[in-house]
Amino acid sequence: MSESCSHDCSHCHASCSDKKKTLESMKVAPCQGSNIKHVIGVISGKGGVGKSLVTSMLAVAMHRRGYKTAVLDADITGPSIPQAFGLTGKATSDDTCLYPVESKTGIKIMSLNLLLENTTDAVIWRGPVIAGTARQFWTEVNWGDVDYMFVDMPPGTGDVPLTVFQSLPLDGVIIVSSPQQLVAMIVEKAAKMANAMYVPILALVENMSYFTCPDCGKEHHIFGDSHLEQIALAYNVPHIAQIPIDPLVAQAVDNGQIEDIQMPFLDNIADYLESAAK
Ligand code: ADP
Repeated sequence: MSESCSHDCSHCHASCSDKKKTLESMKVAPCQGSNIKHVIGVISGKGGVGKSLVTSMLAVAMHRRGYKTAVLDADITGPSIPQAFGLTGKATSDDTCLYPVESKTGIKIMSLNLLLENTTDAVIWRGPVIAGTARQFWTEVNWGDVDYMFVDMPPGTGDVPLTVFQSLPLDGVIIVSSPQQLVAMIVEKAAKMANAMYVPILALVENMSYFTCPDCGKEHHIFGDSHLEQIALAYNVPHIAQIPIDPLVAQAVDNGQIEDIQMPFLDNIADYLESAAK
């Protein structure tokens, strides 16, 4: 601990043993009835790069492998998970807790849009309320038995993602980026935040990496050259993956059919999650 220590570990970038202990003590207990083995956060430096898509794809991949899988949609102001899975029902509750909604294949999902009467209602809440809601999805939702929970984290590196980072016992995070130079720079901020929180970065996914021309089969790098390997090397990230721009993917998300399409792009990450758990 340095002499100038403010004792506010939540905003400190220094690393010290006290900070690690303090961060550990900030984790909150899950709701009674929840028995969750692995919690993996999916983060991005900014919105719109495909964080929710990657969260959904990973949940589908692990569920197809026979694991009990769940998605906690902590992207409170931009909840897009229910749409991708075509969920129209509402979450239920009793005197003690809330219950997630199950997708058609049995993936458990909780999202603010499963609680709002009207899914187009804007969430005009201040940061602490938004962060509190994401925390409640952990503390007040009875998830039952879950092998892999994927958390669609709030985008950016502000107060809300910070609170979620501090509250949930994340095994690790997967960072999603797109190839633009600007995004690559912002991704480094997300990586630094994970490091500052002592949460391992398990993989880096570059979404919208290229577009394969349906006529000639040539790959076009619409958003420029990839920075994936460079960033993975700089932050010691063990696994990388690329997802192309694919109109069928956009269509599947829009139609709530994410569970119906075959996407092998994240298979190496799913393999890793499976083997790491074993
Ligand atoms: P984020 O969670 O980072 O805000 P989303 O996953 O919601 O981003 O993606 C934003 C939009 O872009 C969605 O409509 C999604 O279907 C679309 N999209 C994302 N990745 C792809 C892709 N690789 N190909 C086609 N459409 C995509």
